[in-house]
Amino acid sequence: MIPAQFDYVRPAAMHEALQILVDHEGDAKILAGGYSLLPLLKLRLASPTLLVDIHDIDGLDEIIETTDGLRIGSRATHRRIHENPVVQNGYPLLVDAAGGIGDPQVRNWGTIGGSCAHADPSSDWPAVLIATRATVVLQSVSGERSVAARSFFIDTFQTAIEPTELLTEVIIPRAPRPSGAAYAKLERRAGDFATVGVAAQLSLGPDGRISAAGIGLTAVAETPFAATAAEAALVGQEPNEATFQAAGVAAAAESRPGTDAHGPVEYKRAMVKEMVVRALRSAAGRALAQR
Ligand SMILES: Cc1cc2nc3c(=O)[nH]c(=O)nc-3n(C[C@H](O)[C@H](O)[C@H](O)COP(=O)(O)OP(=O)(O)OC[C@H]3O[C@@H](n4cnc5c(N)ncnc54)[C@H](O)[C@@H]3O)c2cc1C
Repeated sequence: MIPAQFDYVRPAAMHEALQILVDHEGDAKILAGGYSLLPLLKLRLASPTLLVDIHDIDGLDEIIETTDGLRIGSRATHRRIHENPVVQNGYPLLVDAAGGIGDPQVRNWGTIGGSCAHADPSSDWPAVLIATRATVVLQSVSGERSVAARSFFIDTFQTAIEPTELLTEVIIPRAPRPSGAAYAKLERRAGDFATVGVAAQLSLGPDGRISAAGIGLTAVAETPFAATAAEAALVGQEPNEATFQAAGVAAAAESRPGTDAHGPVEYKRAMVKEMVVRALRSAAGRALAQR
């Protein structure tokens, strides 16, 4: 199908973009990579009257490590994140997740901000932000606000972003050493959206037990979510197979998958358990390597 008619602007500065969102409140849509928005326009599932292309706004694709943690600009593409040396050296969870998104073309164009703003329950970044307890930064003409990733994803394709706000960056806090994290994705074919995705992060205390845990689940509920029962099953325990299996059982019980082309509910619950165990094994191995 052909999209409904729309106007297109390409502001050169952030303040211009934010003012345009105010002037066209509810009618304008930000255009980042376009890999989710353009298909929606073509199917006429969205019909904004104005697209605000953010490609000329400086600094929105930067990736910087600070004392707060890793700050990733919203327009950083999946590929840019995957290839970034700081990410490659210190954030294996992000390397796992970015490298498994779609195909090279999707990774060249799709952005972390677009992925989070779109809030498809099958997108991979949201679970990563949930597991790491990241923060999402939103800007409007009135100023800036930060929203915890765990509160940001409200429902399918629905987030805490207001129509006059632009997502500027995500901040992934630095985990205390020793910590490890991993993303395990089950897909039917290479390049597919996840049937089940699991982001897991573990920190170990001086006694070798798990002192903190984060688990984000992809594609097994109406929205990405934190598997808090699984997290509770991990904290205070030895990082061993029995602990991982218990967390997998807990995560399967708290997931809310639906039956679709990827399989029935029972299969998906079984896969949640399996993928949680795999992600935890990998995360624990990475944490132990830091000791
Ligand atoms: C064939 C195919 C395979 C894919 N496979 C995967 C996969 O395996 N895993 C996965 O996670 N994703 C996958 N995707 C989705 C892809 O990663 C998208 O690019 C991404 O979800 C959206 O990012 P974008 O930059 O293209 O956003 P756009 O399409 O430009 O925008 C998406 C939405 O976010 C809004 N938006 C964008 N940027 C901002 C911002 N800075 N502030 C506020 N709102 C904003 C837009 O207005 C729009 O509503 C796939 C897509 C395709 C087409």
